[in-house]
Amino acid sequence: MDHFAYHDGVLHAESVPLPRLADAVGTPVYVYSRATLTRHARVFRDALSVLPAVRIAFAVKSNPNLAVLKVLAAEGYGADVVSVGELERALAAGMAPDGIVFSGVGKTHAEMARALDAGIGQFNLESAEEGLELAEIARAKGRTAHCALRVNPDVDAGTHGKISTGKAENKFGVPYDRAAAIYARLAGQPGLMMRGLALHIGSQLARLDPLEAAFTKVGALMQDIRAAGHCVTHMDLGGGVGVPYKAGDVFPQPAEYAAMVARVTAGWNVVLMFEPGRVITGNTGVLLTRVIRVKEGAGAPWVVVDAAMNDLARPAMYDAWHDFAAVAPDGDRMTANIVGPICESSDTFAMARDIDTVARGDLAVFRTAGAYGATMASTYNSRAMVPEVMVDGDRWAVVADRIASATILAAERVPDFLL
Ligand SMILES: *Cc1c(COP(=O)(O)O)cnc(C)c1O
Repeated sequence: MDHFAYHDGVLHAESVPLPRLADAVGTPVYVYSRATLTRHARVFRDALSVLPAVRIAFAVKSNPNLAVLKVLAAEGYGADVVSVGELERALAAGMAPDGIVFSGVGKTHAEMARALDAGIGQFNLESAEEGLELAEIARAKGRTAHCALRVNPDVDAGTHGKISTGKAENKFGVPYDRAAAIYARLAGQPGLMMRGLALHIGSQLARLDPLEAAFTKVGALMQDIRAAGHCVTHMDLGGGVGVPYKAGDVFPQPAEYAAMVARVTAGWNVVLMFEPGRVITGNTGVLLTRVIRVKEGAGAPWVVVDAAMNDLARPAMYDAWHDFAAVAPDGDRMTANIVGPICESSDTFAMARDIDTVARGDLAVFRTAGAYGATMASTYNSRAMVPEVMVDGDRWAVVADRIASATILAAERVPDFLL
């Protein structure tokens, strides 16, 4: 459920008509609904309230906008960060350091040192090597790093290959059959406090059974590690719950997810940690765009919009589907290909799609663009960096400026040796 709806034939974000935002800010622009964000944060949190002890760390990479993080901090969310840049954002948004989890396969020495100084709650270690390096840094600082070991459960998440992370051939975590030995080794390191296991098998999961299989496997591993005399107090079950991108698609509801988790983790006696991203932010945003022109094609006509793959990379990267809708539809339909202006054939949002009829100058949106949208934007083809707006009832604000290509050009230098 979201708060993007038609009133008097015009698509609104909450109480703000989208043409007003297009006039004021220009296009393309991401538009977020605060009410939708809050609603999703609460539905997910409330669903998990059937579990005994829960911590939720929002996956910042799905939408790192400062205003978005502020809303989630106020809802009691911590943060799952994968770089020092994301760590600084989470802190800037007022998230408690204790609620911050640091994930990622390539944490640098400097990043780990900064995170220790900030007093973050947990490092999710992805290798023995990383754990040993962190132990050294912690000892030098006279600190203790609280850690979970990320396990690769070798489960097929059944999602797109580029967002699968829990198969043995993926770079993430330590191999399942070596995890107990690595845990024991790291637990003996001064400077580290091993407190649990972590996993994250992929994103945009359409079914719960791969998650259930993975949780069951790490549950068994947890029992082995305890039987060997080690302490396990926290289990981080990652993120990955998918959202429907196509009207009519059915995805697992947070309540079904929570019921499955409750069943699998009964008797674990741990704090359960979660790292949701897309399920919180996906529906929270749309990408508002204007049709530059409609060009005749060999087959269906080409609708050329002013948003492109640099603004919304998911279709080019993952063959992802985003519903497309006119802001002021006239009721007619057409079959068209939707593309951006970038000089790449992968700059294609849809082929032979049945859409609202649009013409030059019309406004339209790509829906469900709140997750992995603006955060993946680039300035490819020397385009501007796409701006972001947040709507709250009848109020709105620019929460990320459009960065003009002239500003980016001004940061470049011609060296003396070329003069
Ligand atoms: C990306 C990521 C997430 C969030 O995934 P979603 O599919 O957006 O829920 C959680 N944890 C880790 C370690 C990640 O890399």
